[in-house]
Amino acid sequence: MSTSNGNPDTRSLKRNPPKLIEMRIRRRDNPDSPAYWQEFTIPYRPNLNIISCLMEIQKDPVAKDGQRTTPVAWSMSCLEQVCGTCTMIVNGKVRQSCSALIDQLDQPITLEPMTKFPTVRDLIVDRTRMFDHLKQIKAWIDIDGTHDLGPGPKMTQDEVAERYAYSRCMTCGCCLEACPQYDDNQFIGPQAIAQVRYMNMHPTGVMSRDERLEGIMGDNGIQNCGDAQNCVRVCPMSIPLTKAIYEENRETIIHGLFGWLKR
Ligand code: SF4
Ligand code: SF4
Repeated sequence: MSTSNGNPDTRSLKRNPPKLIEMRIRRRDNPDSPAYWQEFTIPYRPNLNIISCLMEIQKDPVAKDGQRTTPVAWSMSCLEQVCGTCTMIVNGKVRQSCSALIDQLDQPITLEPMTKFPTVRDLIVDRTRMFDHLKQIKAWIDIDGTHDLGPGPKMTQDEVAERYAYSRCMTCGCCLEACPQYDDNQFIGPQAIAQVRYMNMHPTGVMSRDERLEGIMGDNGIQNCGDAQNCVRVCPMSIPLTKAIYEENRETIIHGLFGWLKR
C-alpha cells in the first residue's frame, strides 16, 4: 500500500509486514573447503516447494545480511519424486526437496547435503558409492539365451507385488543416510540388499543369483546390519527393506552352508 505521494505507507507495512520465507543453508564451495551456514529470505507465495525457493535465490543471490553471494548449487531432475536426485536434509530429515512444501515446514527452514556421501558443492553430493554397490551385486538380469524361448516363466501375484515394490527404488540414498551402519564403506546398505532380493526373485537369469548373494556376503555385507530399522521408516517409496534384509539374510546363510554343493 502507498500514500498519496507514492511512498510506501510505513504504518500499513508495520501492521501487515510482507511474509517472508527464511532459509538457513549449509554450504560448501568445493569438496575440500570448509562448510558454512548462510541465511536467505524469500518473499512468501503459497504452494512453493524447496526447489522453487532455491530457484528464487539463484535469480538474485543476496544473503539475508545483504551480501551478494554465489547461487546455491543443488541437483534436480524429474521434480515429481521419481528420480531421487534432489534428496537433501530438510529441517533435519532426509527427503526429496521437490516434494517438501514450504507451507508444511517450520521456519527457518534448514537445508543440508546428505552426510553419508562426499559433498561436491553446497547441496550436491556424489552418490557414486551407491552405483558401485549396484555393480557389486550385479543388479541386472542376464538373458538365458537370444533364441525364442516362448512365454516367460510365471510368477504368482504375491511375487509380482513384492518385486514391484522393490522396483520402485530410485537410488535416492535416504535409507543410507538414516542407517547408523552405513559409513565409510563398512556396510553395503539396505538399498543394495533390497535390489538383490528384487533381482533374485526374477525367474530369468538364474546364473547370477549366487554371485549376487556373494556380493552381499563380503566384509561390508549383510551381516553388518544392526537391525535398527531406520531405513524402512525413511524410504519415500515405502520399499519393504526389512523384509528384503530378512529374506536375503536367510538366503546368504543357506548359500554359505550349501552353496559349495552346486559347484
Ligand atoms: S535395519 Fe538398521 S542397520 Fe539394517 S539396514 Fe536398516 S537402518 Fe541399517
Ligand atoms: S530403498 Fe528407498 S530410501 Fe533407499 S534408495 Fe531406494 S527409494 Fe531411496
